[in-house]
Amino acid sequence: MSRYWSELAKGLSPYVPGEQPQIPGLVKLNTNESPFGPSPKAIEAIRAAASDTLRLYPDPQATRLRETLADYHKVAPDQVFVGNGSDEVLAHAFAALLKQPAPVRFPDVTYSFYPVYCRLLGIDYTTVPLDADMRVRVDDYLDRAGPVIVANPNAPTGIALPRTEIARLAAGRSDAAVVIDEAYVDFGADTAIPLIGEHPNLLVVQTMSKSRALAGLRVGYAIGDAGLIAALTRVKDSFNSYPLGRPAQAGAIASIADEAHFRETRAVIMQNRADLTAALIRLGFEVLPSSANFVFARHPERSGQALAAGLRERAVLVRHFTAPRISDFLRITIGSKAELTRLTEALREVLTQNS
Ligand code: PMP
Repeated sequence: MSRYWSELAKGLSPYVPGEQPQIPGLVKLNTNESPFGPSPKAIEAIRAAASDTLRLYPDPQATRLRETLADYHKVAPDQVFVGNGSDEVLAHAFAALLKQPAPVRFPDVTYSFYPVYCRLLGIDYTTVPLDADMRVRVDDYLDRAGPVIVANPNAPTGIALPRTEIARLAAGRSDAAVVIDEAYVDFGADTAIPLIGEHPNLLVVQTMSKSRALAGLRVGYAIGDAGLIAALTRVKDSFNSYPLGRPAQAGAIASIADEAHFRETRAVIMQNRADLTAALIRLGFEVLPSSANFVFARHPERSGQALAAGLRERAVLVRHFTAPRISDFLRITIGSKAELTRLTEALREVLTQNS
C-alpha cells in the first residue's frame, strides 16, 4: 500500500483467482479450463482479425456477435449483452440491477467473486445457507423482497437446479432482478434462457471460457429482457464502450458457428466426469453430483488442505478453498483422460503415504 492509494483501493479485498504457475509437466485442474483447444475455426477467425484493421476501434455494440448469439439462443439482439468475460458482465449486472435498497442475496457457498463486487460497488448483501446436502433451496429466497443471484450449476459444488425451480425463483421474486450465472450450464444443466420471455426480471449470464474453451479470449454474455439489457449497456458505456476487441468478436462468432466441435468436446468432458467420479468413489471420496466441468469431493480421512498439498508435490494442481463448510473439499477440473489418470494415481499415492 502507498500513500497515493484512494480510500476505495485501500478498502478492497480482491478476488483471488486460481494460480497459473509455470511448472514443467504440470497437470492443471484448478481453474476449470477446457482440456481441449477451442474450435479451429475460432482460431482461424482470430488470426484473420489480427490484421491492419486493428488500428480501428471495434464495433462498440458488437452487433454481429450479438446477432449470432441471438440466433443461437432464439432471442432478439436487443436481449443480448456481451462483455469481456462473464466476470465483467456480472460486475455490470451488480451495478445496473443488483444494487438496490434491499440487500442482494446469494448462497453462502457460491462463486466467491459475488461479495467482492458488492464491496467494490458498495452493495449490501446477505448470504443464504445451502441446505444440508449443499443444495440451493429456492424457498429460502422467496420470503423477502430484493434481488438474487444464483450460479446454476452452483460453484464450487457443481449441483444444478432444474429449470422449473429457476422459474419459481423468478416468479416468486418478481419485485427485483434475478440473475442466473450459467458459467457451467453446458455440461449437463438446463439453461433458463427459454424463461426470459415470461420473466422480465430474469437475467441469464453465460461464458465462452468453459464449454467453448476460450478462457483466454475473454468473452461472456447476458440474455434477458431488453429492459434489463439496456441497464447493462448504460453501465458499460459509463465504463468502457469497447470491451471486446476485434479478434474477440471474430473468434466468438466463429466458435458459435462450430456446433460440432462444441458438442463433441462437451460430450467427452461429461464422459470423463462420470469416469472420474467413479474413480474417486473407489478411492473412498464423497463426490457431489456435478453438472459442471469439475467435481467437488472430500475424503472422510484426509483434510482438503493435506490432499491439495500432496497433489501439488506431485505436480497436480486442484483448487482448495479455506471457507467454512467447504474446507475439506477439493474442486477438481475435468481434464483429459491422461490428466485424470495422473490425478488418480497421485491421489492413490497421497492416500497410502499419509496413512
Ligand atoms: N461465474 C462462475 C460461477 C465462475 O466460476 C467463473 C469462472 N471463474 C465465472 C463466472 C467467470 O468466468 P469468465 O470471466 O471467464 O467468463
